[in-house]
Amino acid sequence: MVAKILDGKKIAEGIKEKIAGEISGWKKKPGLATVLVGDNPASKVYVSMKNVACKKYGFYSREIHLPESISQKQLLEKVAELNKDDAIHGILVQLPLPPQIDENAILSAIKPEKDVDGFHPESLGKLIQGNPSFVPCTPRGVIHLIKSTGEKLEGKHAVIIGRSNIVGKPTAILLLQENCTVTVCHSRTTNLAEEVKKADIIVAAVGKPKLVTKEMVKQGAVVIDVGTTKLADGRLCGDVDFEGVKEKASWITPVPGGVGPMTIAMLLQNTFEAAKRIEKTG
Ligand code: NAD
Repeated sequence: MVAKILDGKKIAEGIKEKIAGEISGWKKKPGLATVLVGDNPASKVYVSMKNVACKKYGFYSREIHLPESISQKQLLEKVAELNKDDAIHGILVQLPLPPQIDENAILSAIKPEKDVDGFHPESLGKLIQGNPSFVPCTPRGVIHLIKSTGEKLEGKHAVIIGRSNIVGKPTAILLLQENCTVTVCHSRTTNLAEEVKKADIIVAAVGKPKLVTKEMVKQGAVVIDVGTTKLADGRLCGDVDFEGVKEKASWITPVPGGVGPMTIAMLLQNTFEAAKRIEKTG
């Protein structure tokens, strides 16, 4: 079997075009504020991609760049200002933050109605209840990709590798809500290969190039590769050995061009939904 490619770039394009069509007649555009603290090169690239996408698809975007030395109090004041700003429907504080700042304090300060990244405790609590307001962008993109295969999810065994608050844990919750049987593996899992071999659906979110090899994958599995690691030659590499695994999987996402574009499309979707709720439009 040679896997079909889950083309995240193309699927994301369709989602963004649809939103752009819906907001084209709006007088007041959905507004996203991105807050970047410091000069982490990867964070700079992510924030810039998000703002470029906003502008291209008809959103209002405001890029806020703050110094690495900013205090927690000053950052909280900036968030409070954006909470009150009528032009802004979604606030995204790019992670990670410098060590003097308590990330949870900042994420909790974002008004839940504007929490388009879905990391506020209220958003995460509602997600667990099965009544989400905002679903974190990458997990939402992962589920969208899996559903776009047309495969039935109910009863499938999903194995997620990685347990971060931003990817692994919310993805596990979402797959449980799709009636999958879910196993979450992490750095202390004793036999990763044995766990992964049981999977009908594999979501790899670790950040270790080619961690998932052909030998670990069941014939016909759906394989979603969230991982992105920049190699010495500048290329991006996923957590899955794409060339080997595509011989056994039924569907597989490439890196780049799989989950990454979906994350941005879901950010626009969340911001669009935030604007509709706040402005009571549509
Ligand atoms: P993280 O570092 O917070 O979490 C990594 C997880 O991997 C941890 O839970 C850890 O327990 C687990 N892990 C580490 N070594 C392991 C091993 N040998 N076996 C099994 N599990 C192991 O990372 P994150 O923020 O969740 O991101 C994971 C990857 O996904 C990174 O490469 C990141 O760049 C990428 N990412 C991509 C997107 C996107 O839009 N494409 C978005 C978010 C994250």
